[in-house]
Amino acid sequence: MSQPIYMDSHATTPLDPRVLETMMPYLTNHFGNAASSTHLFGEHAKDAVDTARDQVANLIGCSEGEIIFTSGATESDNLAVKGVAYQYKNRGNHIITSTVEHHAVLDSCEALEESGFDVTYLPVDKYGLVQPQQVEDAITDQTVLISLIYVNGEVGTINPITEVGEIAEKYGILFHSDATQGIGKIESDVDKLKVDLMSFTAHKMYGPKGIGALYVRKKAPPLQLYPLLHGGGQENNIRSGTLNVPGIVGFGAACELCKREMTEEATRITALREQLYHGLSKRIELIHLNGHPTKRVPGNLNLSFEFVESQSILSGLKEIALSSGSACNSDSVEPSYVLRAMGVKDELALGAIRFGLGRYNTTAEVDTVVECVAAQVARLRELSPLYEMVQNGNYEAAIPENGEV
Ligand SMILES: *Cc1c(COP(=O)(O)O)cnc(C)c1O
Repeated sequence: MSQPIYMDSHATTPLDPRVLETMMPYLTNHFGNAASSTHLFGEHAKDAVDTARDQVANLIGCSEGEIIFTSGATESDNLAVKGVAYQYKNRGNHIITSTVEHHAVLDSCEALEESGFDVTYLPVDKYGLVQPQQVEDAITDQTVLISLIYVNGEVGTINPITEVGEIAEKYGILFHSDATQGIGKIESDVDKLKVDLMSFTAHKMYGPKGIGALYVRKKAPPLQLYPLLHGGGQENNIRSGTLNVPGIVGFGAACELCKREMTEEATRITALREQLYHGLSKRIELIHLNGHPTKRVPGNLNLSFEFVESQSILSGLKEIALSSGSACNSDSVEPSYVLRAMGVKDELALGAIRFGLGRYNTTAEVDTVVECVAAQVARLRELSPLYEMVQNGNYEAAIPENGEV
């Protein structure tokens, strides 16, 4: 039996074997605690962490003292949003974010609303973009933080982070970006993006799970964060807890590989995406691209297939790992909140498939995916009475006024 094809790299990525190799000694012989400065085990661990911190900082153009290691982007987002809100609560109680953030940001904001903070959730356009002018218009004298996702994890849209950063700077407001889906894939330099805080995680860039980072600007004026975890005072007192040395070493190696290979990889993966998009477009009619045609990361293709539901497509394709844009709980399927915020009609949102191309996908795999998805969509449409109406030229009758199918 052949290996299933993995094309869901926005959810997670496989560990690069080169990364695993650098981690192995720290899972075995070099098990020391990086904070144990009285012996060689500890020193060895600390040296490894220092090297990794340099590698991580180097990928995003900051200094090593500006990297706070966390357990992943969920924690980094929580730390950025709540840490700023609690630290600067005497300055103001207003936060600006968007409706298409990752739940780590959205739910942190909702939690803050329960304790008296005011949050503006900016809408997005049909591509999933926030306009910088909207951000500026939402600023009040109470605004302490703007938090905006860099690259959307469902549709791959790249937000105008630099422009928003300029606005934040002009008004002296702190600016956080969840850059988890951008870092390692497109250029993500903290000075160019003009961010004060930036979240990311190793497992979306061929590193291990359970390790991430928050970039926290140190340049004047120095930025303080109220910690979520109190304890041994690691990570400048911002994030207590014994450092995950093997994870950090792997994260560092993953960052170095991304830095070295990103340009070449982006070209290769963009070509695979074009092959996928053109292949599917040629074989299947009535498909729609979700997200921006050009302002998107190389590995993302999100398509809606009219007259079929993504759950039905996926359940017929067990040999291919893809994702729908929707969340399902037992018996009901909800359209994705991101596609909904972009104004995609429910029947199209329910037919959305997210293709996440990554480092190990090949042109042969793309060919297989095109064939299998095309065959599955054709099979499902044959069973659809609505599709049959359209085939008979009765498109008006097939799509009721209220959009319900
Ligand atoms: C995956 C992801 C997260 C969560 O990262 P974890 O390391 O799994 O906690 C947060 N934000 C975005 C945009 C993501 O894609």
